Amino acid sequence: MPRPSDSTLAAWRGLIGAEHVLTGGDALEAAGRCTFADAPLPSAVLLPGTADETAACLRVAHAARTRVHPVSTGRNWGYGSGCPPHAGTTVLRLARLDRVLDFDDDRGLVTIQPGVTFGGLDSFLRAQGGRWWPPSVGAGPDVSVVGNVLQRGLGQGPYRELARHVYAAEALCSDGTCLRTGPAPGPDPTGLLFQGGPVVVTAVTLWLRPAPALRQRITFRIPRADCLPLVVDGARAMLRGGAADGQAADVLSAARVAAGLPPGASVPDVMTGAWTGGTEVWAPDDDALRSLRGRALAWAAAHGDVWEVSPPLPGAPTSGDAPAGPVCAYRSKPGGPGSDPDRDGCGVLWFVPLLPMRGAQTARVVALIERIGAEEGVAPSVSLRLGPRDLYCVTGLFWDRDEPGADARGARCHALMSAECARLGVFTYRPVLGRWPPEAVDPGAQRLLAQVRSALDPRGVLASHLL
Ligand SMILES: Cc1cc2nc3c(=O)[nH]c(=O)nc-3n(C[C@H](O)[C@H](O)[C@H](O)COP(=O)(O)OP(=O)(O)OC[C@H]3O[C@@H](n4cnc5c(N)ncnc54)[C@H](O)[C@@H]3O)c2cc1C
Repeated sequence: MPRPSDSTLAAWRGLIGAEHVLTGGDALEAAGRCTFADAPLPSAVLLPGTADETAACLRVAHAARTRVHPVSTGRNWGYGSGCPPHAGTTVLRLARLDRVLDFDDDRGLVTIQPGVTFGGLDSFLRAQGGRWWPPSVGAGPDVSVVGNVLQRGLGQGPYRELARHVYAAEALCSDGTCLRTGPAPGPDPTGLLFQGGPVVVTAVTLWLRPAPALRQRITFRIPRADCLPLVVDGARAMLRGGAADGQAADVLSAARVAAGLPPGASVPDVMTGAWTGGTEVWAPDDDALRSLRGRALAWAAAHGDVWEVSPPLPGAPTSGDAPAGPVCAYRSKPGGPGSDPDRDGCGVLWFVPLLPMRGAQTARVVALIERIGAEEGVAPSVSLRLGPRDLYCVTGLFWDRDEPGADARGARCHALMSAECARLGVFTYRPVLGRWPPEAVDPGAQRLLAQVRSALDPRGVLASHLL
């Protein structure tokens, strides 16, 4: 597929203004920064300001048969940041589409454009009276909600997989035509939007969780590494009793605990074990909270040797309760946390197998990940995000990109984890630069997706998937 020609670039400039078509070396170098080496540089970056301008840019790309890759804010740190999956691709960055288009306070529905960040949505919902729990992620307040949702990102508190909170969406096909998904009879095409679906999403309507009357956190120390299988099996029993709607639970490795602390902070006693268990419970009243807390405490007492219970707090967490940025990315960086891992030379790669909620299998995969990390000299930070049926084994590899040889070590460690886990039939659920191994997807589903792709994007303009 050809790079954009001079006449294609001129057509885009005519549509959105020359200042919104970046082709200069410095601008492309900045747009191609990533948290690991060898990500493809964009050929150009387009910054349309409206959905109509976005459609017009796509029509030009379609006519010229040149490849474009949509991003929202382009802060997909550890998965490819704002880089395209192929060289010679123009990045279509939708950060200027940053409006909240609609808010239904009665039904808890909010419609946002791709440039709306978690921090922006938080401020908006609080200004509306704070009845709804603002979604948030560990990447901090400056990343796009839509970009995160489209990658099936993991939210905090009640949001877990954010894509499950999509109520409706609006998208453009590669020829600029519009499609809408949402409550309607028949098969639901919403799933086709996620993780490199062959469309450009211009708006998403999310259904929000109500802000709770009360919430509380229980943290406990798991003294020995070999306790992990029982901790996971115990959490399954706790979460399957219907508590999952008022409770989030996770288990953090010692390396993950250390990565989340500000520089110089000492590890609190309750987090000094081989693993740290944690659960947050929330409820509409004191009685409901007491019941959830009782179950959570039983889990903590069965597996922990020290535990801590926070006082009940009213309402959803505020943005001040969370770290201001992606703290873990700065784990190996001298000088403390900042807000832009791409710019600051932080090495980050994520490997996130989705596993059945079973203790023995989880322990096997974690042991493999930790062995590879130890052999390669990159301590993996593991956070198990638990659910009643499955868990996300969120494995972060963090290094200092300025250290000679560290980029190669990080990449090798990630490649080995992917290859050795694949032998166990275990795959990351979230691709890096749109790539995942073909054997991770059922052949029949692959065939169907390829047919859908060629129907929606017959000229391969939005071909971001690399199966
Ligand atoms: C320390 C740290 C902590 C993190 N914690 C979390 C966490 O808790 N949970 C989590 O999920 N992630 C986390 N991340 C990863 C990542 O930074 C976030 O997922 C972030 O939200 C993704 O970036 P973005 O929102 O700017 O998406 P973008 O980079 O804008 O988009 C990501 C991808 O989605 C697709 N896409 C985006 N917009 C569109 C569109 N409009 N139409 C079609 N396709 C589109 C494209 O394939 C694009 O490459 C963390 C990263 C770091 C470094």
